[in-house]
Amino acid sequence: MFLLKSIPKVDKFIENEQFDDLSSSLLVSITQEVLQNLRENILKDEVKSFTEDELVQTVLQKYEELTKPSLQKLINATGVIVHTNLGRSLIDAKTFDKVKDVVTSYNNLEYDLAKGKRGERYSHISDVICRLLGCEDVLIVNNNASAVFLILNTFAKKKEVIVSRGELVEIGGSFRIPEVMKQSGAKLVEVGATNKTHLRDYEDSITEKTAMLMKVHKSNYSIEGFSSEVEFKELVRVAKEKNLIDYYDMGSGHLVDLPYGLDQHEPSVLKYMQENPSLLSFSGDKLLGSVQAGIIVGKKEYIAKLKKNQLLRMLRVDKLTLALLEENITSVLLNKLDEIPTLKMLFASTDELRENAQFLKMAVNDICEAHIIETTSVIGGGTTPNRTIPSIAMSVKIKNYKQNKMEKLFRERKIIGRIEDDKFLLDFRAIQKEDIKQIIKVIKEITNV
Ligand SMILES: *Cc1c(COP(=O)(O)O)cnc(C)c1O
Repeated sequence: MFLLKSIPKVDKFIENEQFDDLSSSLLVSITQEVLQNLRENILKDEVKSFTEDELVQTVLQKYEELTKPSLQKLINATGVIVHTNLGRSLIDAKTFDKVKDVVTSYNNLEYDLAKGKRGERYSHISDVICRLLGCEDVLIVNNNASAVFLILNTFAKKKEVIVSRGELVEIGGSFRIPEVMKQSGAKLVEVGATNKTHLRDYEDSITEKTAMLMKVHKSNYSIEGFSSEVEFKELVRVAKEKNLIDYYDMGSGHLVDLPYGLDQHEPSVLKYMQENPSLLSFSGDKLLGSVQAGIIVGKKEYIAKLKKNQLLRMLRVDKLTLALLEENITSVLLNKLDEIPTLKMLFASTDELRENAQFLKMAVNDICEAHIIETTSVIGGGTTPNRTIPSIAMSVKIKNYKQNKMEKLFRERKIIGRIEDDKFLLDFRAIQKEDIKQIIKVIKEITNV
């Protein structure tokens, strides 16, 4: 076996000058793997010849694949603004720059500058949030799922929580209210029927074991027709009478008036704060448009209890999260909605979208078949089910490629579009203005393939 004998020795092979700048431990491990594969393929008679340079190129290629970041920038041309698979909400670049200075330096995360003593991690954000919402106190955790878990574990472990049968939601990524409740140690008491729950259903189920009346927002589905649910303010009232805690898991929640009548489908945090609840929680990166986080607001005595739960140590957020969230809330407080990409995209008029679409169409009209169409998109991220908002898209056809092939060609070039009515569409609702140059480049590239 002459070929086997000519496989280079690892020590010698890695001395090749093309490897000079590489990390030697990674280089050795990749080289061992490549040479081992070569050996096996020679034995299987699948390789008849090779050159050292081919091996070098294989190793270099693997090295690059392994060391380049797996998480990378994409262009969202699906039309879905809060797209959980594509990172949910964008952070505004200028906001990120502001925050960069703090997180790349030491900072007062848990340090009270005035007193020169240990400070409180959550204090940075509580002033702005309490001023905005009129709540007594705030706690931030890793995401809204952790908020639900922490609240149930703190107040209802080995006790009962009453929830309507119509609200036992499953959110994408296997977050299910009944399962979360079980894990938290709370006992779920389901009341009412899928389509109808009355206040007396809650009242009749209250026992000495009851800790909480909980409402869950039906984020990603709706119950239509012969249906009714109990308003949260009724639960707040009964909970007060019976000395129980009321809690609303609001899902997305939002802090500003939404366009397209979306307010009717997504509960407003401000509105529910006025009902004087024990606790509310909502996500940081749905319609709030900030970073992944769970925001818990409500009465000081209850937030204090949450802070004492050991579990909080596991769910606590980093300075990066707090700094970004503080910027976001301040932007809302100052009504600078332009600094929140999720809201900016949501509020963009179809005229603005059409202008961007026309700009793109002009640039590529000669090299592909492009049509601007009126369409609709959804908000996504487990918000506003069945609600669509108007959008503008450009259908693209290159050569005689079918829509599936088009989708793949764009996806391979990091542009995620959508297929509708047998057409491949680039929806402008979530395309950033600065993305358009790249889209033009990609269309040119595909035309030349
Ligand atoms: C989205 C959602 C959650 C989970 O929130 P995350 O921030 O994604 O963890 C919990 N409850 C409801 C009702 C939701 O819509």
